[in-house]
Formats: sequence, C-alpha cells, structure tokens
Amino acid sequence: MVKGDKINDIIDHKLFSEDDIHEMCVRLGKQLTEDYAGKRPLVVGALKGAIYFLTDLTRQMDVAHQLDFLDVSSYGDGFESTGKIKVVTDMSADVKDRDVLIVEDIVDTGLTLKFMKDLIKKRGAKSVKCCAMLNKEACREVDVDVDYYGSKVGNEFVVGFGLDFLNMYRNIPYVGVLKPEVIQKYVNK
Ligand code: 5GP
Ligand code: MG
Ligand code: MG
Repeated sequence: MVKGDKINDIIDHKLFSEDDIHEMCVRLGKQLTEDYAGKRPLVVGALKGAIYFLTDLTRQMDVAHQLDFLDVSSYGDGFESTGKIKVVTDMSADVKDRDVLIVEDIVDTGLTLKFMKDLIKKRGAKSVKCCAMLNKEACREVDVDVDYYGSKVGNEFVVGFGLDFLNMYRNIPYVGVLKPEVIQKYVNK
C-alpha cells in the first residue's frame, strides 16, 4: 500500500547511496581535472535531472570552467523516450570553438544525448563530451559515446538524485527503485 508520498513509502530499494554517488563524483572529478587541464570547458547541465549530480561533480573538478544549461526533452513525461526531441530551453553561451562537457543524469536509449551532441557540434564546438551519473548501456538504440559515467545500471526505472517520476522525487538524496504500486497509482490515471 502506498500510504503517502514520504520517501520510505515510495522507495522499494536503494541502488546507489549518497556515499556511492560521492565516490563517483570524486573519481570522475579527478579524471576530468586531468583531461581538461589547460582548457576552459563549458559545462552544460542537461535540465532538469542533471543539476544534483552537476553541483557535486563540478565541485570535484579543479579546472576553471563556465556553466550553462540546456533543456532538451522528449515529448511526454512518462517513463520512456518517445524518440521525438525538442529544445525546451536553449543554452545562453556561444559554443563555437569551445570544449563542451555535457553533464547528464542517465543515458538510456542515447537519443537525448545524441541530439544534444549533434546540436552542439553543429554550432561549431571544438569538442563535445558527456559525463553521465548512470549509464543504461544495454538499452542503447543509437550509437553515441558516454565518455565518462559513474556507474552502469540495468534496465529498471530509477529515481532520486535528480532522476524523476512525473517530475517528482528528484530530491531523494540517493538513487532507488520505486515500489511498483507507486507507478500503478499514476499509470491508470
Ligand atoms: P534517452 O534519450 O537516453 O533514452 O533518455 C534519456 C532521458 O530519459 C534521461 O535524461 C532521463 O530523463 C530519462 N530516463 C531514462 N531512464 C530513466 C530512469 O531509469 N529513471 C528516470 N527517472 N528517468 C530516466
Ligand atoms: Mg536527463
Ligand atoms: Mg525525466
């Protein structure tokens, strides 16, 4: 039974704890510090899900960088990508000749990331890479490189640390799996 929408009522089990995610950020931050040494990358957060991961990750990067955001969404807000992608809110920076690092919450089919990388390349960026918190590698439908990622994850729907269900639950401080009854509660509405 779903009593309310308190975290303990809706989460079935935890997959990545706050400590796990902190470790990912430390490891990735160190790598990005090396790889971007001497460059001044433009870090582009994919709204809205990436903001929680981005603030932790960039604080582990000892590289002068600038920050921008891009909101690219597939139509609808259910569980799966529809494949049709549009720019909801564009970046403000000019990416021409910039080293761009896209920060994502999760890469699933790869359609969203491919759309973003193609857009930024088309606008003349010098390089475009992606650092994602999670990588659903087995779910890929298009060929796109996730250049850096925190962990692989299987084909299950995860929430928390930025990841949403119907634009809710992003604030859960870890990544977990929803109880099936929570999904059922909304699916039939
Ligand atoms: P893709 O275009 O790679 O299929 O999907 C990317 C987007 O789908 C992600 O940025 C995320 O918003 C959403 N997504 C994919 N898998 C999950 C998941 O397991 N949980 C949540 N909350 N969102 C997901
Ligand atoms: Mg996303
Ligand atoms: Mg979403």
